[in-house]
Amino acid sequence: MSQRKPYVGGNWKMNTNRTTSADLARGVVDGLRDAAHVDVAVFPPFPYLLAVRAILRDRSSSIKLGAQDVYPKPDGAFTGEVSTEMLKDCGVEVVLCGHSERRHVLGESDAHVNAKLRAVLDAGLEAILCVGETLDERNNGHTDPVNQRQVRGGLADVTGDQISRVTIAYEPVWAIGTGKTATPADAQAVHANIRKLIAGMFGQDAAERIRIMYGGSVKPSNAADLFLSPDIDGGLIGGASLKVGEFVPIVRAAASKYTTP
Ligand code: PEP
Repeated sequence: MSQRKPYVGGNWKMNTNRTTSADLARGVVDGLRDAAHVDVAVFPPFPYLLAVRAILRDRSSSIKLGAQDVYPKPDGAFTGEVSTEMLKDCGVEVVLCGHSERRHVLGESDAHVNAKLRAVLDAGLEAILCVGETLDERNNGHTDPVNQRQVRGGLADVTGDQISRVTIAYEPVWAIGTGKTATPADAQAVHANIRKLIAGMFGQDAAERIRIMYGGSVKPSNAADLFLSPDIDGGLIGGASLKVGEFVPIVRAAASKYTTP
């Protein structure tokens, strides 16, 4: 049994519209009204943040409002970008940094991910640092070195105080949106190695406290098995987070592993 409170995020990516984002938010809030022992965040597209925030507030929900991305500069001539202060102004509490699609489709480097993550933490927000290897990297036996490089790079210059506001999401690139999932044993091995690395960087206490989510084609049918693993503290959910009937059971599967300390 884990003493870390499970955490589940729903990454809506570039999906939904004004009507369906509101419907989805209402469905998730109502479906999880009685859910305890789990932290939940939703990550709508930027244009719908305020509408989703209004729904969370009106229903007194503890579900956190998340942003899928941020730009590390405070303001200025950065057309199309969004700052931490703008996100805070919209009620955002947590920000994804280095999602696989940002790294591999939009070309973000470890250094850029690190700049974003530090801007998020400096602004007093929570960050979820996403890491994960590609299929080629996995097939060449580079799973651990790639994840270790991304964790080290992403967390460079983060302070001992700030690490308590960081969650890591291990998301093998080959499992995102593909229907392929890491086996619980494979995911557990990577999570344990990431936790060991955090112990080396920030100390044993921080390593025991930090939550490491798994992401990559999590569904109601495989969630419970994944979340049973001792170092898997919940999930970052893409496709299945767009359906209330799939996201709610995944959150419940995560909640069931927690015991109050
Ligand atoms: C994700 O976007 O972080 C993700 C894990 O997507 P999916 O669940 O669709 O694989």
